[in-house]
Formats: sequence, C-alpha cells, structure tokens
Amino acid sequence: MTERNLTDTSSVLRSHGLRPSKARVLILALVTRRREHLTTQEIHRLLENGGHRLGAATVYQNLNRIAQKGLLRRFIGPDGLVRFEANLLPHHHLLCVECGRIVDAGVNETSLRHLSPVDLLTAKPATGWEFSGAQVELKGVCPSCRKKR
Ligand SMILES: [Zn+2]
Ligand SMILES: [Zn+2]
Repeated sequence: MTERNLTDTSSVLRSHGLRPSKARVLILALVTRRREHLTTQEIHRLLENGGHRLGAATVYQNLNRIAQKGLLRRFIGPDGLVRFEANLLPHHHLLCVECGRIVDAGVNETSLRHLSPVDLLTAKPATGWEFSGAQVELKGVCPSCRKKR
C-alpha cells in the first residue's frame, strides 16, 4: 500500500463523516485494492500478514461502520458468510463451485426484465406482487479449476 493510497483513503473516510483512524484507513484501502469478496476473518488475516495487528473485534466493528456509510458493500455470500467488497455498482456474482471463488459478473439485463415469477403450487403468475428486480446467483467452475480437471 502506498502512502498516496492511504492519504486518499483518509479523505474518502472524512468526506463520509468517519474519523480516519488507522484501522479504518487500513481496512478500506485493503478491500478497495484487492477487488475481492472477503469475509471479516480473511480481512483480519490479510492485515496481520501485512504486519498490522488489529483485534478481530476492531476489524469487525470498523467494517460494519464503513459499510453503513456506503463505502463498502456488505452482503451474504452464497456460502452464507458475510462478505465485503468495494464494487458499489449493481452486479451479480459468479461462484466457482469447486474452489469457492466469487467474481463479479454481469448478466443480460433484457432477459432479466422478462422474468415473470410464478406461484410454485399453481404454476400461475404470482398475483398481487409488483416485481421490482432480480438478484441472480450464477454458479460454475472457474478457469483455473477447469485446468486442474
Ligand atoms: Zn475455482
Ligand atoms: Zn461483487
């Protein structure tokens, strides 16, 4: 992490009304730089590997605080674990069923708009609902796992 990144991160935090404590700056800079979907535990371990010793509770509390302010997205991954990412644009997730890797993916939004939910019991259109959108869970086998086959 360069000095410049950390200075930028401090001003982003400040502009969102968060005091740029050392923990917050390190956490936000790390998640932004890695472009991954990380659990609290993974973030904690990565910071420790980088020589930053922060308590697990500190990492957890600050991640949630930063996410509350809209600087990180907090979501439940396909594995049921809470994960954080820096990509705030609307997107879907493509999960590798072999290694658990999650990557950002787009889908053809035109076909999504034509989805029409049906009642599972009657197979008739779900009545009384105003359908507002869909979050698709995409699954597959990633290129590096395919190579190992
Ligand atoms: Zn994989
Ligand atoms: Zn994502």
